[in-house]
Amino acid sequence: MRRLIAVLAGLGLMTAGAVAQERLPIVDAHVHYGQNDWSPYPPAKVFELFDRAGVARVLASSTPDDGTLTLHRTDPGRVVPVLRPYRAGVGSGNWFNDPALVDYLEGRLKSGLYRGIGEFHLFDPAHAGTPQVKRVTELALERDIYLHVHSGAEPIRRLFAIEPRVKILWAHAGMTEPASVVGPMLEQHRNLWTEVSFRASAIAPGGKIDAAWLALFEKHPDRFMIGTDTYVTARWGSYLELIEEHRAWLAQLPRALAERIAYRNAVALFGAGSRGELAK
Ligand SMILES: [Zn+2]
Repeated sequence: MRRLIAVLAGLGLMTAGAVAQERLPIVDAHVHYGQNDWSPYPPAKVFELFDRAGVARVLASSTPDDGTLTLHRTDPGRVVPVLRPYRAGVGSGNWFNDPALVDYLEGRLKSGLYRGIGEFHLFDPAHAGTPQVKRVTELALERDIYLHVHSGAEPIRRLFAIEPRVKILWAHAGMTEPASVVGPMLEQHRNLWTEVSFRASAIAPGGKIDAAWLALFEKHPDRFMIGTDTYVTARWGSYLELIEEHRAWLAQLPRALAERIAYRNAVALFGAGSRGELAK
């Protein structure tokens, strides 16, 4: 029935009310709320977008970190804060060498609010080898929180070589890594989860779910999550479309599998917060 409704909804044959009843709650595992967003998208406007998109809960990080704290303060039960190493003068190209990094992270982590460190970038596998990055893996382990990492497969392998017990949320499932690489990574690293922001066109080219990705979801139903990645302000302008893009391929999965990827996997890792509909 639910699949039928999804198909009918796609054809525009269902009323809005019927669609809303069946609409999957979403946990968006990749939100940024950077300084440029604050004025055009004050918190009330951001939460209104979440409401309209059916996004019940989010993992948020930002440059600087104050944006994350603002969203969390506005609705603590709906926002999972993740601590970004980036701030004035420190970004994707130099954070792993930043002499002040460890003090900065340790100071902020004392609040106990954060459930992860990231999202950070490792474009060059060698950058995973600095003393700072090793300490970041230790901080995550000590606090039992996750690393949210934007990289290809090789830097992920390096991080697990440094600390096999660390838990990693692999941003964009490697961004350009094909299903044939993502699958073995999930098999080899049991503490690896992924979110698929930016990957809707790979998962469902031309709108139809790709067989290799479908097989991957069926083989690893508990390792995938949804994300939008609002890394620039324009992404908030297309936020509803970004979520709809994910809903379109989720609707092609068996309902139980779609529920896991849409929100149940994220809830298993990060809790349901104040959102009762996620605990059902
Ligand atoms: Zn990213």
